[in-house]
Amino acid sequence: MRAQPTASHFIDGEYVEDTEGTAFDSLYPATGEVIARLHAATPAIVEQAVAAAKRAQPEWAALSPTARGRILRRAADIMRERNRELSELETLDTGKPIQETIVADPTSGADSFEFFGGVIAAGLNGDYIPLGGDFAYTKRVPLGVCVGIGAWNYPQQIACWKAAPALAAGNAMVFKPSENTPLGALKIAEILIEAGLPKGLFNVIQGDRSTGPLLVQHPDVAKVSLTGSVPTGRKVAAVAAGNLKHVTMELGGKSPLIVFDDADLDSAVGGAMLGNFYSTGQVCSNGTRVFVQRGIKQEFLEKLKARTENIVIGEPLDEATQMGPLISFDQRQKVLSYIDKGKAEGATLITGGGLPNHVTGEGYYIQPTVFADVTDDMTIAREEIFGPVMCVLDFDDEAEVIARANTTEFGLAAGVFTANLSRGHRVVDQLDAGTLWINTYNLCPVEIPFGGSKQSGFGRENSLAALEHYSELKTVYVGMGKVEAPY
Ligand code: NAD
Repeated sequence: MRAQPTASHFIDGEYVEDTEGTAFDSLYPATGEVIARLHAATPAIVEQAVAAAKRAQPEWAALSPTARGRILRRAADIMRERNRELSELETLDTGKPIQETIVADPTSGADSFEFFGGVIAAGLNGDYIPLGGDFAYTKRVPLGVCVGIGAWNYPQQIACWKAAPALAAGNAMVFKPSENTPLGALKIAEILIEAGLPKGLFNVIQGDRSTGPLLVQHPDVAKVSLTGSVPTGRKVAAVAAGNLKHVTMELGGKSPLIVFDDADLDSAVGGAMLGNFYSTGQVCSNGTRVFVQRGIKQEFLEKLKARTENIVIGEPLDEATQMGPLISFDQRQKVLSYIDKGKAEGATLITGGGLPNHVTGEGYYIQPTVFADVTDDMTIAREEIFGPVMCVLDFDDEAEVIARANTTEFGLAAGVFTANLSRGHRVVDQLDAGTLWINTYNLCPVEIPFGGSKQSGFGRENSLAALEHYSELKTVYVGMGKVEAPY
């Protein structure tokens, strides 16, 4: 097995195995080959991980911010040095092409450690509040033990996006990757130890939907940050609410991407393709409802069809491959069933719609697919597909498209392509979403907040805003005179 880790879990600075836990296989999505065999965490493993985190956290929080930041920045350097090795592992774990993982996965994880290592050293400071003689001050304090639960599309990035701000703010973390992609987070845990992180502060335990709740309901856990689907988000938030835990929810979407007739058409087509086909369409913020102004519809579709049919699908470890498989057989079945619904409900299939015939073997490949003449009521326009299926919808004017774009329970992201600057700002201002782009799509550098509104979640990752979600405010009132009591 070519990616077998030393053991399933990483707790208190070392690999730990417990063969009592349910065994599960990790598959390479491009071939279905078993690349690792692991065990889900038993309740005893959950206890061990939370206890290690709880024990380690106070001493870590007591370190100077500069000392904490130095370790995180060292982890960033190690990740960059090992980018090739980590990217290959990410490709095996997810099936995403090496062409993507080498620029988007460990590197964005490293950015996160570098950024939060730097900003924490610059200070997560409070306020001094003069009260006329008396005064008060505030300080930001860590929450304690935080739990991170990840999805399978960006396993290393998700682990880092949660670990970096949590650790920077002085917390400890227990992270559970998706059962589909168990490998990357273990390497991040190893690297953090190598960078000098005291043991017990970043622990990784394996498991699925039955393991998650053991973490979420644990009395020693102060916060849960989930990246996953909306139904999972509802369940996790409900359990967390029972114990009044802090939560960050990074959930799914059905984001609108609006192309006005004055837009640079090649950029708009490129943006729509990146926003639907990158990572084989398995990106939460994808602009899967592409609203195209009627006058440019034909030209847009012609360019889109030609470029889509040129996408190089193949073995993900091959540098030339532009699109790999979906994560699993089940995910492909789900995406195919949405394609069937699109056809049955009357959308026009422009390209794709099935399995690529030049790819052989057991891999979970699917063709990048474009539907046109999609209407707002169709299933493919309403539900998150999480695969490379782009829906193109026509529109006539600005007010109409804004209203239709907002008619969704989701609110993760949105994008606008137009040459008219004031229109760009005016339109994004009226779109209900947490993360928006003008004349580009899906760029999420660590410096900017990322997250959703409505059913797509709450809380923010990245940027200074993330630190607020991994800390709380303590207010201290200082009396300078005698206490005047009426009794
Ligand atoms: P999922 O909701 O099935 O699983 C996410 C994680 O939650 C997994 O680790 C899973 O084991 C765990 N889990 C499932 N049920 C649980 C429960 N009851 N309690 C605790 N943990 C539980 O999601 P997925 O299929 O792995 O990922 C795809 C989804 O994630 C899509 O909806 C996508 O939009 C979303 N996503 C969102 C973002 C974002 O930042 N907004 C990023 C990536 C993916």
